Amino acid sequence: MRAVRYHGPRAPFQLEDVPAPEPGPGEVRVRILAAGVCHTELHFQSGLLDLGVAPLTMGHEIAGEIDRVGPGVRSVRPGDRVILYYYAGCGQCEWCRRGDENLCGRLKAELGFLSDGGYAEHVCVPERNAVPLPAQVSFEDAAPIPCGVTTAIHASRIAGVREGDVAVVYGVGAVGYGLIQLARLRGARVIGIGRSPAKLELARTLGADHVVNGAETADVAAAVRDWTGGRGADVVFELVATEATMTDSTRMLARRGRLVFIGYSEDRFSIHPIQLVVNETVVTASVGNALGELEEAVRLVGEGKVRTLVDRVLPLERWQEGLDALAQREVVGRVILAPHAPNTSEPRR
Ligand SMILES: [Zn+2]
Ligand SMILES: [Zn+2]
Repeated sequence: MRAVRYHGPRAPFQLEDVPAPEPGPGEVRVRILAAGVCHTELHFQSGLLDLGVAPLTMGHEIAGEIDRVGPGVRSVRPGDRVILYYYAGCGQCEWCRRGDENLCGRLKAELGFLSDGGYAEHVCVPERNAVPLPAQVSFEDAAPIPCGVTTAIHASRIAGVREGDVAVVYGVGAVGYGLIQLARLRGARVIGIGRSPAKLELARTLGADHVVNGAETADVAAAVRDWTGGRGADVVFELVATEATMTDSTRMLARRGRLVFIGYSEDRFSIHPIQLVVNETVVTASVGNALGELEEAVRLVGEGKVRTLVDRVLPLERWQEGLDALAQREVVGRVILAPHAPNTSEPRR
């Protein structure tokens, strides 16, 4: 089968022919019909993210159909439509036992991070990682769910978003769109900050009460303070995390505000502790998500309460075009790779 493979930091990805995997006991094989292109892959390509595993098939946002099952599999069968949970924890440690598999230190697999992922025709996963996908959600609309919606559910839980909060989503991309919708569902008022008018317009369509264009606003933190009558934001989700945005983020927080890191860049976070102390600021972070959160995300999308956004669908061999468009900030929504569909669409927004 064809697969797009990572060969270590700063080496280009390669489209290669590799043996198709066969499902072992308790595993299923999925025919991949849609795989999301994420900033994570750019971080692998640049070397910012280096987990020491290579070669490796990229991609952790995966939807498709089960085409084979290994011995002992009972809950799913060939032909089932599924979306994949990308962590497989050890199942034994304190984090796995309390359902925080994303923090397991002895992961058995992490698709597209530590084990082969979705930029390929097939992938094998443990049976429990294949979550049923309702018929009304297309594979293309499903592929962004593991990051865009599920990571947003996890981050809004970490942030403790409550009714009446003001939540800032700093960076409007796939996870940002999920966060805007999630924070609204939890009863918050939401401010989106971005630099592209098209993305900010979409943020409004998805429910942002206010948007701030960072490219045109001299003092973004002051703009947030003004909109909140001087009080500041209860929660800031940091999806950009450059020195400039991190400075803004700390300045726009209300007392006892929660700053939640989700994105990262090459830049460091630096702040004088007194600024945290006098405001009782909480600085925290959110990584990935839990299996139950993926199930909740699928339910919310199936019920039409949360939308995912697809920018365009490309055949697998045009993966680099998708990554380049993402790096150039040209995409609004997700670029999706379709490993079994040679004929593809142009931008469809
Ligand atoms: Zn992702
Ligand atoms: Zn574990």
